[in-house]
Amino acid sequence: MPDPSDSHAGFGDDAALHSGAGGMRVLFIDFNAYFASVEQHDEPALRGRPVIVTPLKSEHSGAIAASYEAKALGISRGTSVLQARQICPDIAVRPARHDRYVAVHHLLMREIERHLPIARICSIDECACRLNPDEADVARARTKAEEIKRGIYANVGESLRCSIGLASSQLLAKLAGELHKPDGLTVIETHTLPDALADLPLRSIPGIGGGVEARLERAGITRFPQLWALAPKHARKIWGSVQGERFLYALHGHDVPEAAEPKKAMIGHSRVLSGEHRTPEGARIVARALLLKAASRLRHYDLYARSMSVTLKLVSGDALHHDTRFRATQNSWRFLGELDIFWKAMQPALAQRAQRMGLARPRIKLATVYLHGLGDRPPERDLFVPSAIDEKDANQARLWKAIDGINRDLGQPRVILASQRDLDLNYLGVKIAFSRVPDAAEFADIGGIEKILDGAKAHEHETRTMNPARALY
Ligand SMILES: [Mg+2]
Repeated sequence: MPDPSDSHAGFGDDAALHSGAGGMRVLFIDFNAYFASVEQHDEPALRGRPVIVTPLKSEHSGAIAASYEAKALGISRGTSVLQARQICPDIAVRPARHDRYVAVHHLLMREIERHLPIARICSIDECACRLNPDEADVARARTKAEEIKRGIYANVGESLRCSIGLASSQLLAKLAGELHKPDGLTVIETHTLPDALADLPLRSIPGIGGGVEARLERAGITRFPQLWALAPKHARKIWGSVQGERFLYALHGHDVPEAAEPKKAMIGHSRVLSGEHRTPEGARIVARALLLKAASRLRHYDLYARSMSVTLKLVSGDALHHDTRFRATQNSWRFLGELDIFWKAMQPALAQRAQRMGLARPRIKLATVYLHGLGDRPPERDLFVPSAIDEKDANQARLWKAIDGINRDLGQPRVILASQRDLDLNYLGVKIAFSRVPDAAEFADIGGIEKILDGAKAHEHETRTMNPARALY
């Protein structure tokens, strides 16, 4: 198959499309009513009961998750608390606990990894695993799927039900996973298509959103068998990009490689400061934490940064911005050093702004830190830079990588700088967005800080425990 990332090359002709990609290659796992299930897991009294999870403690907020018992009553994501109570007066309403959902995500991923390598974490409650060629047989793949389900129920918790899809491409496996919920195990074999899915609404196929659906309709394609019969070139035209061909090949069960990730231009974080961190010293601690987090992600992508920018927005509406360039590095101490230089230099300007506002001290509302000038190579030898300096830098970067590795393995930042130790970084955690695929590495530092403060209890936390709630907190 030609390289699909080359937008000038087609994937191949129609014969290639219909060449019958068979065999089970992908096992897709989707946790059912995930947030609500975690609540039922942590609070056994909620099991078997209608439960909704809300983002806010307000009767008007809409549910962001509903247990299957609630769904059976017609309550779903988006139903307001008020409406839900009308339908079911004794419904359990719980505010979302994102850090807990991420912690359980880790337990689930670790359990799954005991059985199969995870190829891709698609979201907090979905992942795709690769089957070995010797698991390509449907019966064997099913056995694997059952083994994973048993492992999850026994070692993480029986409230955490999942639907598993098996197919020869990730698209079909994800689709299979969605066909039976909760607790499904569904196989899609390419040779049964298009008949097996003849009545499937196109909109329920992953990758077909409203826009594509409308374009398909304009092209006269409203039913699965018509979609199936599309020629690759036609699909490209409808989608308006090579993505149409990628989709069609995946639909036919071909193992289409993931599109190359867009090259990162910068890595950084931004946070609105809580009251206690609105002083220059408070903001400095947060900026350092943001920088350490960005640096860890930089190393995760194995990139080097050559510049950094820091922006502070003041409560008064003013902003201070600083850019600095340096020799390419991955070393967090270098970044922190640069930040310190900037921070000292900035103090007079900050004081001046405060004075203008008639304040005794400047109040800072928002801190943003970015690393940019990214490249995938260490700096070239420079005649004016003693090699010992580059060596020291490389060694320190290696140490930081080792720290990243430890924190990742533990699923939380256990090794941190002493200067950051007493900071409650909870609110620095990844915000869980429904529309965005979180990077597994981003999960690594969420919710972990409070456990660091617990210090010695650290190692009690093991994956395979009957009560992860107790082990984690
Ligand atoms: Mg789900």
